[in-house]
Amino acid sequence: MRYILVLVFCLASLGLAQPRVGTEDGLTRLVFGIPNEAKLSLSRSGNEVSIRFQGTPPRNLRTLLNTPQVVGYRATPSPGGSTYVVTLRAGTSYRTLELANPRRLVLEVRSKTPTTTARPRSTSRAPAPVVVLDPGHGGIDPGAVGFVHEEEAVLEVALRTKKLLEARGIRVILTRTADKHLSANKAADLGLRAAMADSKRTLFVSIHANAAERAAQGIEVYYFGETIDQRLLSKAILENGGGALGQRLTREAQSVAQRLMRDLIAQANLKFSEQLALKTLRALVRETGAVSRGVHTAPFYVIRNARIPAILVEIGFVNHPAEGKKLATSAYRQQLANGLAGGIMAFLNSGNAQR
Ligand SMILES: [Zn+2]
Repeated sequence: MRYILVLVFCLASLGLAQPRVGTEDGLTRLVFGIPNEAKLSLSRSGNEVSIRFQGTPPRNLRTLLNTPQVVGYRATPSPGGSTYVVTLRAGTSYRTLELANPRRLVLEVRSKTPTTTARPRSTSRAPAPVVVLDPGHGGIDPGAVGFVHEEEAVLEVALRTKKLLEARGIRVILTRTADKHLSANKAADLGLRAAMADSKRTLFVSIHANAAERAAQGIEVYYFGETIDQRLLSKAILENGGGALGQRLTREAQSVAQRLMRDLIAQANLKFSEQLALKTLRALVRETGAVSRGVHTAPFYVIRNARIPAILVEIGFVNHPAEGKKLATSAYRQQLANGLAGGIMAFLNSGNAQR
């Protein structure tokens, strides 16, 4: 019993005393453990972000992190608790997110990568976000086949989405721009796409279409994680290459998902992915009037190692008698592109986006 009490005390006090720090190429994340009843407020002044906690023990400490994005942080007692001041390096931007169970605050600080091309009609010095769009399949792999071929429909939707985002000052990278596979080996093909979700980019959206044996329709959005739902697992196997290969890559992705469960830093990125998924589904359903099939997690191989918010969107069922035919039309593809661009912009403009 004494051990348990000691452990609980340590978790409660250490959590706030010293944030967990994670670094990746181009970013530093600080994760503060927060007691459930505590209040917090954030403010920024120059290169310093202040987080004032109330209902926490008073702290007095100073830590030098010396990462490319963060100089360090200090904590001083303030009324009812402590105030942490994190000193950012010049040329960085940050975003914050609160997580529950256990309650945490994530502060993510990212280097602003210099833009190589000048952006006309813009006086802002902030670099443009970089969005990676991944039209699934292509070349030897048509994907789902019905009234349209998945590989063709998702490519056109991606190209239309790219145009909309670029008109709003966003840089867009496509994993493919023609009816081509990236590799004849499906695992390598998915690996090449996944590698584009590196931390120099802002977010990653893989675009797919469904097929179902029974007449199903609607849009669903996924972020990476485990599932015990057999239907979702079957879909993941299919998108992960199908057959024995799809089963193997799905098992690999499931074990990554299990490992990520214990990684608070990775969990923070998955939380951002969930936000992106929710906003994208909302915008897609609003633009198209399609049935919402919800946001889910599943072990999709292509988003298993994403260092940035990453989702996989299923834009509809190619073999549904009504939806499949709509997916063949330019008008509906434009509505889907409006929805995708709208969801991505909503995410970039929200508190989750870079500031
Ligand atoms: Zn697909």
